[in-house]
Amino acid sequence: PGRSTVFVGRTDTRPGVPIGPGVFTLLAGPCAVESLEQTFEAAEMARAAGATLLRGGAFRRHSSTLAFEGLGEAGLQILAEAGHATGLPVVTEVTEVGDVELVAGYADMLQVGARNMQNYALLDAVGRLPKPVLLKRGIQATIEEWLMAAEYIAQRGNLDIVLCERGIRTFEPATPATLDISAVPMVQSLSHLPIIVDPAHASGRRDLVLPLSRAALAAGADGILIDVHPDPESALCDGPQALGGADIRELASAIRRLAPVM
Ligand code: PEP
Repeated sequence: PGRSTVFVGRTDTRPGVPIGPGVFTLLAGPCAVESLEQTFEAAEMARAAGATLLRGGAFRRHSSTLAFEGLGEAGLQILAEAGHATGLPVVTEVTEVGDVELVAGYADMLQVGARNMQNYALLDAVGRLPKPVLLKRGIQATIEEWLMAAEYIAQRGNLDIVLCERGIRTFEPATPATLDISAVPMVQSLSHLPIIVDPAHASGRRDLVLPLSRAALAAGADGILIDVHPDPESALCDGPQALGGADIRELASAIRRLAPVM
């Protein structure tokens, strides 16, 4: 199939940020919005590294009940302000059908997380909105199931869908999930939709983020999603996989050497 480009943050006066062939889009930001200061710092780190989209979590659901669940609407407000300050359109996760309108009021792109990939009520709700959707692969989903979930959104009228490979459950316990790099060319042979890679949720380890990002680029992905934090050791969520200032600069320059269009 031909390949599509999805534009995020498009308005009458702005063309929007492209995700699709010919560009390698860096989406970066704090895994969780914790405070105004932390989010502004993370957003500036992302922008300075060449990110063109700010990704941050305000509504979060985890496998552990002890994990930080986010600031909710206060987090959305902070994220929108940080997006405005840096000039970056905002991507954030929505976890409940009842929050879709609220989140869409603040965000330029709605993320459906791995745990919700087959939440058909949520897919239905985001499918009826005029906002791009970032659809993460379910941790136990086959490529076919993932593409069918995208089809479900598309059939509601929303064709602006970007897929995100974030690792799947395998027998290998060394990392929380195994990044299925073959999903990138496989999806591209089956679908016109753009596909990006989240190396951090697959590996759970900061030191694996750069090599897996290189792998994503080499496999033909349209971008990567990276967690950044001004002080990863103190992060309320997923600190071990977040990049600090020096790490994101190193990643950006390594990727730029390979992909001058980033
Ligand atoms: C995330 O991207 O913030 C996240 C929790 O990832 P996933 O849904 O892939 O686990």
